[in-house]
This record gives sequence, structure tokens and C-alpha cells, in this order.
Amino acid sequence: VKIEARRGCATGVVQGVGFRPHVAGLARALGLGGWVANRGAVVEIFVEGPGVRLDEFATRLVSERPAAAHIHSLRWREAEPEGAERFAIEASVVRAEGGGGELGVGPDLRVCPRCLAECRDPDDRRHAWALNGCTACGPRFTIAAAAPWDRARSSMASFEVCPICAGEYEDPEDRRWHAEAIACPRCGPRLRLEDLDGRRPCEPEAAIATAVAMLRRGQVVALKGVGGFALLVDARQQAAVERLRARKHRPAKPLALMVADLAAAEAIAELDPREREALDSAAGPIVLVRRRPSPGVAIAEAVAPGQPRLGLMLATTPAHALLLAGLGGPLVATSGNVHGRPIAIELDDARDQLRGVADAVLVHDRAILRRCDDSVVQVVEGRARVLRLGRGLAPARLALPEPFAGLPPMLGLGASLQAAPMLALAGRAIAWPHVGDLDEPRTRAAMAGAIEDLSALQGHRVSRLAVDAHPDDPSASWATRQPGAFVDRIHHHHAHVAAVLAEHGRAAALGVAWDGVGYGIDGGIWGGEFLEVDARGARRVASLRPFPLPGGDAAARDGLRVLAGLLAAAGLDVPMLPDTEFAELARFVELARRPRLSPPSSSVGRLFDAFAALLGLCRRSRYQAEAARALEHAAAEHGPAPAYPFALVDGLLDWRPMLAEVLAPEARARPALVAARVHATLIAMIVAVAAARRAPRVALAGGCFANRILFTGASAALRERGVEVLAAAAVPPGDGGLALGQLWVAGHRLLTRARSGVPCV
Ligand SMILES: [Zn+2]
Ligand SMILES: [Zn+2]
Repeated sequence: VKIEARRGCATGVVQGVGFRPHVAGLARALGLGGWVANRGAVVEIFVEGPGVRLDEFATRLVSERPAAAHIHSLRWREAEPEGAERFAIEASVVRAEGGGGELGVGPDLRVCPRCLAECRDPDDRRHAWALNGCTACGPRFTIAAAAPWDRARSSMASFEVCPICAGEYEDPEDRRWHAEAIACPRCGPRLRLEDLDGRRPCEPEAAIATAVAMLRRGQVVALKGVGGFALLVDARQQAAVERLRARKHRPAKPLALMVADLAAAEAIAELDPREREALDSAAGPIVLVRRRPSPGVAIAEAVAPGQPRLGLMLATTPAHALLLAGLGGPLVATSGNVHGRPIAIELDDARDQLRGVADAVLVHDRAILRRCDDSVVQVVEGRARVLRLGRGLAPARLALPEPFAGLPPMLGLGASLQAAPMLALAGRAIAWPHVGDLDEPRTRAAMAGAIEDLSALQGHRVSRLAVDAHPDDPSASWATRQPGAFVDRIHHHHAHVAAVLAEHGRAAALGVAWDGVGYGIDGGIWGGEFLEVDARGARRVASLRPFPLPGGDAAARDGLRVLAGLLAAAGLDVPMLPDTEFAELARFVELARRPRLSPPSSSVGRLFDAFAALLGLCRRSRYQAEAARALEHAAAEHGPAPAYPFALVDGLLDWRPMLAEVLAPEARARPALVAARVHATLIAMIVAVAAARRAPRVALAGGCFANRILFTGASAALRERGVEVLAAAAVPPGDGGLALGQLWVAGHRLLTRARSGVPCV
């Protein structure tokens, strides 16, 4: 038999996922010789043996790959046999040039069933160990310092491996063979319980049991999780949840729940197969699911007051699982921060932020190197769609158009709300976790840190920056202060549509860019736009008919002001609302008539606010999109309803006929019906513009499409008419996904310049 040899190079998420043990195990099973090693961000393979076996090896390498591995490319070339008889895992090699510039390690992985079984087994040496993990699970992204993935370049480096763990690491038969983060209760990090001053009420062995007892008493326990500290309380105790809300100054925004397993999730929520899949995935995000009318476990009303949906996730780490098992019921699990500050990842910051919020802290000595809040997804039209990109999903990697592979690296910075940076590198966009709203100095500092971290992957500073065109955008002003930076300003709604095109690999579409607010191409306050977008640019072809926002920014926080703007623009009478509101509304209508104090806007988000206020559902949003959600929930309660009349004249969608009908007192007596009809009208507006433009393809973009009724309704109506519909899934539809569109637009601009002979720096 002729012995042949091949060299292979695999890129993608191929480190920290048990890929090398898989490669070596397969080679050994086939009797092949050679080696595998992490080199920079890639995995290199040398294999030799009979040609037919090498073919089988190459096929099964891919088909039997570990669940968390994502191979972007695997290239083979012929090589000279070296007479290797055994197959080995060789030492990792750091590449000076950055190894292709990517972090080869993937997202953090939720604890696996085998590790949980060890935690439950009193005879196992990892029994009850809160930081258990293996080659198939555990933190990666949040503990990796640099490529390649190796213990020495992770926050496990400070823990010396004990002889038993060393034996497991060396043993090809062991499931922790070459598990870089291998450890045990003897040699690894351990959980301990502390009060906020660092005093320890119990031995580490009793940390979980003591914390469970505190939770039972309704106390708040902070836990150092994967991407930061979280605050936990017993979700069944109304007083405990109210106490957490009061201490965290979070009166209304729904809190996420954590349960032990799918059975516990089913007791609380009605799950479809895709929702079960998302909950039980290695990512383990928060999934927005429909609450059961009569749940098997009574959830405190204060968890998600008035919400038909709950944010639910399964135990992320063994620590969570042990706490849930001890408590025997669901936990509220919310970010360990106070308003305006990023989630704490260090003990000092946790003590500082959470003093007066948490009663105790469960902590360990394995450092969190990157902040990563929980991901949030919802299943719509059979797909899990990201609403917030974080733990388990970040870093997300998305393919950019092919010619982008030749462009210099570039950073997209998103916008001031839900800021999240992305790096375009070698034809791919690498999406970093959500940072937060940049209205506070500490969040802005966290954003600068995230940008630094992301560009460090590259080995040098990224000098091309794509930012929002808003003159006051904080990341845009940060970008302009960077020495030697090329700053490309991308209009907000153009980027929203481009993000959807980028995700789906399409070149052009009619984009429906609907959100709360964005700086328009004409400098106006946009948010209800129809843009035809392609590689050359964006053209606004239609929009919502503008209306004044009395008091400008103040109107973004008060639906009654927006309603006044609509009334003033329509020349309609002030409706009879409860006494004080009537007087206020009349005053706002006066204000709306003064153009200098009331800038015009075409925002669909604001239109939602106005109707929510008019119907008495929600006047002031205490968290982002509260009013819009209230309108959506009312519409969902009612079910499908006919649209109101509207007009499309000269590219302006006229909402005045709709407002006139809603103002009738008999209409307002049935708010759920009105809410459903308002949704139906907006859907009909989308269909009308698509028909008028004869659009073969429509991209639904912007935060408004987190609204399930608007999304599914528009999508179904367009498809019925033979229109192809694109929408965000891998990145959020709102500003959290904006950086992807910024990179797409800026990249195309660079390519255009390159084609016209301008050199690409
Ligand atoms: Zn595991
Ligand atoms: Zn050990």
C-alpha cells in the first residue's frame, strides 16, 4: 500500500471545542500517523497513511466534528510522508503575525450533561464542584487572553494542574484529553461565599448550601457567572423580587428567569420545538417564551408585570445548577450592575456596585477577561433571532461579500444605544458582545475597552472606523479623536438595511428601516423610512408623513407629547382624556405648533408611543420600547383585525385617516382592537410601498421588527405577493446589529474607490 501524506489547515471556531482530540482520536482509530496543533487562530494537521484512509479521515473529520465546532474552511495539500507511526497532539504555536488575526476560540459553552452528572454523583471526584467543565463545555471567550486557545493564554493559567488532572489531560481514553481548562476541586478555582465587605460566613464547602438558605429567606445573592456577576433571588417570592427591584432601581423592566432543565421550563412556559432547541443549546441564551396561563410553579407577579412573555434560560454553569437544585424552584437571574454602569466582572467592582443591592456574593478566583452579558433571542418564523448578542453567541462570525476579503481591517462601532462593535477582517465580520447604551461615562469607557480588545486581536491598531453619521454620537466622537484614524460616517437607516443585506449575502433590496430614532440623511429625525439600498448607496423612496415632536428629545420619553404632535400636524381637536392629561395635551399641542421647539420626525417608534398613550396602555416608557411593547401585547391579545384607511401620496404614508378613526370615543373603548388595527395598518403601508416600487425583495430592518406582530404580518403579506423577505437573525434587528451594516457600506465604498483607481490604504 502506498503511503501518502497531507497537510490541512482548519479555520473557524476550531479551538476550545475539543477539535484537536477529535482529529487525533479519529486518526488513531484509522491507524494514521501525524500530528495536530493549534497555531495562531487556526488548527494545522499533518497526517499520513494509505490514500483511501486519508480520504475517509478528511470526510469524517468534518461529518463527526464536535457540536460546538464551526469549520469555515479546511484546505488540504499533498505533503511528503515522514514515516510517522503515531498521531499526536503537539504543542500550540503562537504566531507573531496574529495567526490570521482571529480569535480561534468560540463563544462560552453552557455546562454539558456529563459534567452535571459528575456534579450530582457523590462518588465522583468532581462531586458538587461549582466550576466543573470539560472539552465540550465551560467558558472560552470570556477567559481567553489571546490566540491560540491554550491554558497558558487563559485565566486558568494561574491554577497549577494536580497530578490526577495531569493524568486525565494526557490520557487519550479520557474525556478531558487535552482539555486546556482542566481542573478539579483540588487544583482549580472554588466557589466561596462572602458578604460585601469580604467576610466569609462559612467554609467554601458550605457556600452553596448557605446561599440556598439565604435565597429561601428571600435574600439577594450575587454570583460570579461566565461573563460577569449576576443577581439572584427566588422567583416565587414576591417580596424578594420587589426588594431586588427597589434596590436595583429597576421598577418595571421584565427580569429573566433561570430554571434547572427543560422540564422545569415547560412547567412555566408553552414551548415550541425551536424554543426548546434554543433553550437547551450550548449557547443557552435567554429565550422570550409564552407564559403558561396556569403554570406548574407560581412565579411572582413582580418578575414580569403584565407581560405575556417571559425571558427564560437554563442553568448556565454547575454553580447555577447546584443553586437551582438546592432551591427546588426557579431563580430570577439579572445582570449584576446598577443603572448606567456596565455589568461587574471583578470582585472590587461588584462590591462597589452591589453594596446595598446584594446580601452576599458567591465568588471564585478564575478571572473574567471579557464582559459578556446574557444573550437574548426570540423564535419568530421558525428561527431563533437574536435581540441581544452576548454570552454563548459572541463572538459571532458572519461572512461579508467576497471582495471584502482583500480590504484592510475595519471596525464598525454601531450607535449610542445598544452599542456593540464589530471587526471586519479577511472577509468576515466578528461581532463582539453588546456593551450597552453610551449615555454614561462608564459605559463609554467599557465601549472603548471593547474596541481596544477587539482590535488587539489584529496585533495592531485598526485605523479604519465606520461610525454613525449623527454629529453627537459618542462613538463617532471617540473615533474622530483617534490619531491617524480614517473615519467613515454611515447614515443610521442605511446601515440598518445594509446589516440585513450583509447577513443574507444579498446585494440590493427595498429596505424598511423602522425604529425609534436615527439621524436622517437630510439631518432630520428619521425612523419610518423606505430606502432602496445597493452597493452604490441608499435612496429614500418613501417614509411616514412627518409630525412635530413637541419639546424634541422630551417627546421620546412621553407618548402624550407625540400624540400632541400628531394632533397638531393633522389639525384635529384635542380628544377628551382624563382631566389632567387633557390640560397637558392641550399645552403640548400649542408647543407642537412652534417649529423651533418641535422638530419634525417620521419615526414609527414614536407613532407607537402616541397610540399607546392615547389608548391608556402606557404613557411613559420606563425602559426602552415599553410603550411599543404594551401596544404589541394588546394587539396580540385581540388577534388579527382589519387595517384603517391610509394614503400613500408622493412617497409619504399618511397616518391622519387612521388617527381620525382612533380618536372616536367608541373606538378608544376597545383598545385591544385599536392596537391590532394599528399594526394591520402599518403592515398594509409596507405592502403598499413594496407594490408601488415593484420591489422583488424587501429587507425588514430596525428595532421595530423585534415586534412579532409587525414582523410576521409584514413578512406573510409580502411573501403572499411573491416578494422575497429578509430580516435579521444572527445579529439584533435594532442598533445592536448596526455595526454590521456600517461595515458593509464602508466596505463597498472602499471597493468603489479602489475600482476608480484610488489606492486602498
Ligand atoms: Zn462538560
Ligand atoms: Zn486537579
